[in-house]
Amino acid sequence: MMNYRQCYDRSIADPASFWAEQAAAVAWYRPPRNILENLADGSHRWFADGTLNSSYLALDRQIALGRGEQAALIYDSPVTGSQQTYSYRELRDEVARLAGALRALGVGKGDGVIIYMPMVPQAAMAMLACARIGAVHSVVFGGFAPYELALRIDDAKPKLLLTASCGLEFDRVIEYKPLVDKALELAMHQPAHVLVWQRPQAMAELYPGRDLDWRETVAHAEPAEPVELASGDPLYIMYTSGTTGKPKGIVRDNGGHAVALHYALPTIFGMQAGDVWWGISDVGWVVGHSLIVYGPLMNGCTTLFYEGKPVRTPDAGAYWRVIEEHRVNALFCAPTAIRAIRKEDPHGELLANYDLSSLRQLFLAGEKLDSSTQHWLEELTGKPVHDHWWQTETGWPVTAPCTGLDGHELRAGSSNRAVPGYHVQVVDEEGRLLGPNETGSIVISLPLPPGCAQTLWNDHPRYLQAYLRAFPGYYHTGDGGYVDEDGFVYIMGRTDDVINVSGHRLSTGEMEELLALHEAVAECAVIAVQDALKGHVPLGLVVLKDDARIAEEALQRELVALVRERIGALACFQRVVVVKRLPKTRSGKILRAVLRKIADGETYAPPSTIDDPAILAEIAARLSGAGLARAC
Ligand code: AMP
Repeated sequence: MMNYRQCYDRSIADPASFWAEQAAAVAWYRPPRNILENLADGSHRWFADGTLNSSYLALDRQIALGRGEQAALIYDSPVTGSQQTYSYRELRDEVARLAGALRALGVGKGDGVIIYMPMVPQAAMAMLACARIGAVHSVVFGGFAPYELALRIDDAKPKLLLTASCGLEFDRVIEYKPLVDKALELAMHQPAHVLVWQRPQAMAELYPGRDLDWRETVAHAEPAEPVELASGDPLYIMYTSGTTGKPKGIVRDNGGHAVALHYALPTIFGMQAGDVWWGISDVGWVVGHSLIVYGPLMNGCTTLFYEGKPVRTPDAGAYWRVIEEHRVNALFCAPTAIRAIRKEDPHGELLANYDLSSLRQLFLAGEKLDSSTQHWLEELTGKPVHDHWWQTETGWPVTAPCTGLDGHELRAGSSNRAVPGYHVQVVDEEGRLLGPNETGSIVISLPLPPGCAQTLWNDHPRYLQAYLRAFPGYYHTGDGGYVDEDGFVYIMGRTDDVINVSGHRLSTGEMEELLALHEAVAECAVIAVQDALKGHVPLGLVVLKDDARIAEEALQRELVALVRERIGALACFQRVVVVKRLPKTRSGKILRAVLRKIADGETYAPPSTIDDPAILAEIAARLSGAGLARAC
């Protein structure tokens, strides 16, 4: 086994030679000679002259290595009461036919395709089919409302949109097609066709000409072979919340991504070909891309594809049932899922019914892993529970225990040490490097390792502005925290206006833009307040126009409905408090950090730049009167 310290030091001292070695694990069509290029604007390009195909690596390559009959994907769907296993050969054949159908519809290399689907295997097939012919997929999480989908349609300008007739919750059917129809009414850009996977729980109405039935279209298609792509050709766009209402289209390349995932699965997660891996997320998130579809398949693992919830499908023993039934070896999930299980089954009585002997370890990320949840889970399962930290932008873990390397260490309360390739540092507001245990902005020295986004879709200037300009020479993560004297990293939370609700990343700026649309609202601030289950939830503080005549309750109802309609229920926006004024700096910036502290009951010192310190006490009284602020 390789040693963590040696690998790490080499990766930082000589990134090009370190990653040239890791790139040898990938079956390129043409192996790269040009490993790392420094571009004048501070961004980088990995493996520029290499050529490959990500769908080939995930499917055909595994068959060539003798895994054709091994289970590639196990679909386990408690919401429909069904299960289905696809071998690598079966999955490849499905994907090749779908890719042929896309091509027959005029989709080719570089074309955008939006995938708006529930957790059915066809969503993974759609991604892999796009990758096969060089189309650029953008999966939009099925919980997003039509307005959000429309924003992404207008940015990605897809030739084709793939959807399903419905998604399923434990207690209801959510029709997707009317949401897609609404989004297309709102969007300026129109895809030529919408391909619809009909599910028996709610059949969708198809508009002749534009809408096509998935099964019929694929039935007549010729299978498509993988095409040779350049390393830098985009594989997918993943939209994520930035600090404004316009989501950022993170672009993932083919080459860097493949090298990173070939490295990450064995090195971090300890996964080998033939192991069963369970990435518990949705294909609409980055985890769904790296740890449900591409990562496990490119490494010859069996990936579990779960259409259900941690609780109520049918109970809080659901995860344990899946682990036992499919002999899961390791899994990824968000802390919020574990908190939901703990709430319903605090003593783990349901777990006693299941055999977890196949499970080696659990990895948690997406938000801070509180030590109480970590200890509870460790005690209950008797397995190591690891915190690790990454972002949509990086595409794979930045800090994590490298459980596949010798000499890796763990430290509870920390999201662990930097993974080889990532030089994690902490800087102050002026960009000066800080020492051990000093809190500041967490940055990563350039170059970022392979796999990390090097641009935004059609908006390179915004990439440079958002990530590389704040601290020259470093990538700006947007997270605050510190690194201890042994190199363990502690993430304290975002330093910008992005919040994490149940592991979902949302922009408070976007919610503020929506609240400001209401005719009674003069100005507003949306902040994150702590929540026992969801980690954080948004809270709206609103200043009314002088002539506004609306009761607080009615205003709250209307604003909650507005956010739900425009962003979706996943925003969990439920509380609005009317205040007389908002605290601001003399230059007019709303002091959100102080507001957060007040809401969380932390002690705060009025910043020296504050315009009128009396406002803070006023707001603290309002929040505690509304039962929102905790006692200091
Ligand atoms: P996303 O891009 O949606 O994956 O969200 C990334 C953000 O989630 C990070 O910038 C962090 O703020 C937060 N996050 C992810 N993992 C962790 C973790 N292990 N501990 C604390 N925060 C985390």
